[in-house]
Amino acid sequence: MGLILTKVSKVFKEFNVQLNLEVKDGELTTLLGPSGCGKTTTLQIISGIIKPDSGSIILNGNEITGADPWKRDIGIVFQDYALFPHLNVAGNISYGLKRKRAGKEKITEAVRNYLKLVHLEGYGDRTIDSLSGGEKQRVALARALAPEPGILLLDEPLSALDASLRKSLRREIRRIQQQLKLTTVYVTHDQEEALTISDSLVIMNQGRVEQHGTPPDIFNKPATKFAAEFLGHSNLIEGEVTAVEENSGIKARLKDNTEINAPYFPGFKAGDPVWIFFRSGRSELCSHREDTENTLPGRLLLKEYYGTHTLFEVDTNGTIIKAESRHPLSPEKKELTPGQEVFVSVRREYCYLIERLSRI
Ligand code: ATP
Repeated sequence: MGLILTKVSKVFKEFNVQLNLEVKDGELTTLLGPSGCGKTTTLQIISGIIKPDSGSIILNGNEITGADPWKRDIGIVFQDYALFPHLNVAGNISYGLKRKRAGKEKITEAVRNYLKLVHLEGYGDRTIDSLSGGEKQRVALARALAPEPGILLLDEPLSALDASLRKSLRREIRRIQQQLKLTTVYVTHDQEEALTISDSLVIMNQGRVEQHGTPPDIFNKPATKFAAEFLGHSNLIEGEVTAVEENSGIKARLKDNTEINAPYFPGFKAGDPVWIFFRSGRSELCSHREDTENTLPGRLLLKEYYGTHTLFEVDTNGTIIKAESRHPLSPEKKELTPGQEVFVSVRREYCYLIERLSRI
């Protein structure tokens, strides 16, 4: 049945959270946003560490808004593991089950099963301080899972680990979450982690949900300028809608009167201020003008090598446009140097329009 937060609010002196959020049953939903946007506070509201001022929290059909944390049927994994140092690995994993007064046999079996699930068979007698960071986080995961909670909450669980371990452990977490079909809320500020691990993604900004959708939806169709800029390299150009035709699409005028063609999106009309959005991987760079639509002349500002691709930045009449070209580069692109006159273009189907609040 999942988790539903309705009009949940919490006011601190200098910050407040206001949330409507639905986490579907068996899905992994990630809260993503910049530092201080309220991700951890949201997780603490769900877990009961922080009590909201108003609103309701329903977990798997049960109202838990005012319930104590230990009565919420929740498993939590923290960034710093927070394992009990005086207990060994088996003692940590069995902790929740003992609190639930599970029988000895059930506990022994659960410890064996969860050690196997996190690939730590034979580690039961080890002390916590004999474990590596990655192993500690696996134990923390097994400890959270052993009481079979109705929801798993993970607060930046990989931030303390090095890059390659982060990648392998995030795949492990996803594998286990899918295997157990466990409703999960995952907090991170790492975009790649969020895109790869999630069924659905919540972009948070200043204590509110900026956008909630699948990773491809948010990547390709950001609802706001903030969501567009937060995820991946993006281009946002100020424009104004000049014509809307359901069949042929939308035309928008830029500051310098260049016309850009975009597909039809409902809800826009002539005169509307918009951001014309496209990912940098979607724009093409040329040293000569080609007869393609949405071509802007400019001067190459920057050329950066990234291994798999090169990033170009072009100044088009005061608007900087980024274009990524995958390797190997064409001989023409290899020759390009900053300062040169170039042309950058984007096909209309790659353009997406975002409402802009102020006029040019
Ligand atoms: P980070 O990625 O840096 O952990 P975050 O998105 O998880 O950030 P939170 O830790 O939820 O952000 O904090 C959001 C804001 O709420 C911050 O400005 C923080 O100072 C404020 N805040 C959190 N808890 C309290 C509290 N108990 N009293 C007052 N302010 C608080």
